Amino acid sequence: MSQPTVMERLGILADAAKYDASCASSGTAKRNSAGGKGLGSTEGMGICHAYAPDGRCISLLKILLTNHCIFDCHYCVNRKSSNVRRARFTPQEVADLTIAFYRRNYIEGLFLSSGIVRSSNHTMEQLIEAARILREEHEFRGYIHLKTIPEADPELVARAGLYADRVSINVELPTQAGLARLAPDKSTPVIEGAMASIGSAIVEAKDARKRFRHAPRFAPAGQSTQMIVGADQASDADIVGRSATLYSRFRLRRVYYSAFSPIPDASAVLPLQRPPLMREHRLYQSDWLMRFYGFAPHEVQQAADDGGMLPLDIDPKLAWALRFRDAFPVDVNRAPREALLRVPGLGVRAVNALLSARRQRRLRLEDVGRLTVSLTKVRPFIVTADWRPTLLVDRADLRASLAPPKARQLELFGA
Ligand code: SF4
Repeated sequence: MSQPTVMERLGILADAAKYDASCASSGTAKRNSAGGKGLGSTEGMGICHAYAPDGRCISLLKILLTNHCIFDCHYCVNRKSSNVRRARFTPQEVADLTIAFYRRNYIEGLFLSSGIVRSSNHTMEQLIEAARILREEHEFRGYIHLKTIPEADPELVARAGLYADRVSINVELPTQAGLARLAPDKSTPVIEGAMASIGSAIVEAKDARKRFRHAPRFAPAGQSTQMIVGADQASDADIVGRSATLYSRFRLRRVYYSAFSPIPDASAVLPLQRPPLMREHRLYQSDWLMRFYGFAPHEVQQAADDGGMLPLDIDPKLAWALRFRDAFPVDVNRAPREALLRVPGLGVRAVNALLSARRQRRLRLEDVGRLTVSLTKVRPFIVTADWRPTLLVDRADLRASLAPPKARQLELFGA
């Protein structure tokens, strides 16, 4: 049988990488221009987007080095018992493709992951070699995100951080029980041990650079991880708790949530249906509440129902506000920043703008209206110079009046 061409292998290995959610472009509507209608597609794979440390959105070539794997994680299309077409690149080929795409201006960086071939150390060495060729032989200054293999020797993982801007290790599932059941070759202590050593290396490198200008950088864009949602029994409250622990123990830049999607030839232990994409969205919102809105993990968990699930029809900040109505109304002319950040419908930018504007004048409802997409959502929870919600916050039908109609489009972090 003839060997697949580079383009065929690129098709296989870019497709195999699409299940990794570390680029946040997943979850959009599926559209394409097949049949000559229109232009462009949201279904293609191979190029994803990420945010560089300076906040720019950049395009990355997103591929696996190989989709061969000696592990058998039930949720993964590349597991050893899966019947998919296999392919592999050499590190040199990955570097050559990256440079060729970069020169054509298709991409600004590389996102490289891999199935595990031969051994974890061998795979890690191959990933590092691709990054080394790019950095040392091509003097490539673009962004590199390397997925690292937690079972690999810590020295190898540490070498990866010297070439990559960001390194990541997937925790895979929110609970240890879920991992043991669905990824029997993996171990939570091993994954967490690798994250801890990367976390320490990042801190040490930062300290060293404060003292010595030429000390080597180590993963300057930090480390991140990914969790699959909906493949096991973990509730949203479990996931929120797990994320909070990961952020505080390992100083992660991001936890990505990936709604489990049924794969071809799926294992019988997996659910037949994917969870609603809105669940993934609500988890990202709860993540933002902890990272930017001053909510403690237990407060986000309080927004969940008795089964630990966040509501799908309203965002977690609104759910929390409806449950803790005695924290409202909040006077926009006097309340501290922390209280304003809890008002449903007021984002961080809106709160900053209110704080700055109220130094000049007493704010009225119309001032708030200019800073939010939904004054209806904000109004029951605030007091302004010309507005006080008499008993509004106590209304029994308040939730129903604020929940969006079912067909409404996903809201972006307005909360
Ligand atoms: S180790 Fe990675 S590539 Fe291999 S089966 Fe598990 S998730 Fe898939």
